[in-house]
Amino acid sequence: MSKRVIPLIDQRSYVPREGLIRSHAELEPFVNSNGLLADRLGRPLHDLRISVTDRCNFRCSYCMPKEVFDKDYAYLPHSSLLSFEEITRVARLFAAHGVRKIRLTGGEPLLRKNLEVLIEQLAALRTVDGLPLDLTLTTNGSLLARKAQALKAAGLNRVTVSLDGLDDAVFRRMNDVDFPVADVLAGIEAARAAGLGQDGTGAGLKVNMVVKRGTNEQEILPMVRHFKGTGIVLRFIEYMDVGATNGWRMDEVLPSADVVKLIHAKHPLIQLDPTVAGETAERWGFADAAGRHDKAAGEIGVISSVTQAFCQDCNRARLSTEGKLYLCLFATQGHDLRSLIRTDASDADIESAIGHIWQGRSDRYSELRSTMGPDTTTLAPGQRRVEMSYIGG
Ligand code: SAM
Ligand code: SF4
Ligand code: SF4
Repeated sequence: MSKRVIPLIDQRSYVPREGLIRSHAELEPFVNSNGLLADRLGRPLHDLRISVTDRCNFRCSYCMPKEVFDKDYAYLPHSSLLSFEEITRVARLFAAHGVRKIRLTGGEPLLRKNLEVLIEQLAALRTVDGLPLDLTLTTNGSLLARKAQALKAAGLNRVTVSLDGLDDAVFRRMNDVDFPVADVLAGIEAARAAGLGQDGTGAGLKVNMVVKRGTNEQEILPMVRHFKGTGIVLRFIEYMDVGATNGWRMDEVLPSADVVKLIHAKHPLIQLDPTVAGETAERWGFADAAGRHDKAAGEIGVISSVTQAFCQDCNRARLSTEGKLYLCLFATQGHDLRSLIRTDASDADIESAIGHIWQGRSDRYSELRSTMGPDTTTLAPGQRRVEMSYIGG
């Protein structure tokens, strides 16, 4: 295996503390045809991802490599984290700007103590149309068997579980903390039993598999066989060049087109329409003998963040554990909302700041990737990408 290039200092210590909120006069008002907020490329704000902790009990090499995230690593102190009340307040103001979906993430979100209390508070919020938010969570599944019932009772609608293979040895190597695959599978079952899927049935629960060429591509077909016909939607994610510590290389990316081809040869697939605009995953249904979608067999998804940019529909904002607003997964700097929240800013001030930040957004990293060079470790401090464990996936 080739040697990874690991920088000595993690990006997050470089994020400037003063934030980047620009003066209101600098930005023109942008709204889309519905009269709702839009960014400079006309994209609405629909989806807010909130990282509730920068800690994790796994050390997936593509996200938190052990060599960097070791026992001496300086995680954020508790006082830096947004409190549940602060998160709920900001989430309410985002909802006023059109956000309909909130995804809790991390680090490992289920490590945040009393997370159910936050979920209860978020479940009480309403969209601009007076509807409950679509409240979901991404987890490595390690604590799900214990927590699924309480999460559902608190008002969580759905979960997405990350699982990179079924073979125990492969899985233990990928999480790099020797965590057994059986415990994650038990977590998925508990989530299904608790009704953490679409329509509260447990069907439509999602499982995300990051595919790294040379590491776990042999797990693709066993994963398909395992989840086909269960109602659980398995999605394959291209290994991405997020952050500055995972030593990403293009030759370790297995393009989604190859994943689809491999599956199609054994389990014929037909492409399905997207369910909502801005959906990151391309949907493929298992075909019946007549070539039609066999709904009982279900579907898979592929997320081609590297080989097929979907920036033009990207309606996602990300709030870091310490309250910085990031406009792109590949951003190098965030806008410091916490300093606004912790001064005496009114709701109107914060709402206006969020609006102006979104209106100034022109990020489209994936579309520009080929012009930017892959090796983030060679970039100057302050220009490196933020880590995914800090802003969440
Ligand atoms: N710990 C939780 C988990 O693993 O589901 C939530 C946070 S994790 C950062 C969110 C998602 O990002 C996971 O599905 C993970 O597989 C994905 N991810 C992390 N690093 C990635 C990378 N380099 N390329 C593609 N996906 C990545
Ligand atoms: Fe932890 Fe999730 Fe990152 Fe893996 S992908 S190290 S489980 S935060
Ligand atoms: Fe959205 Fe940035 Fe990803 Fe493009 S690269 S889809 S703008 S998060």
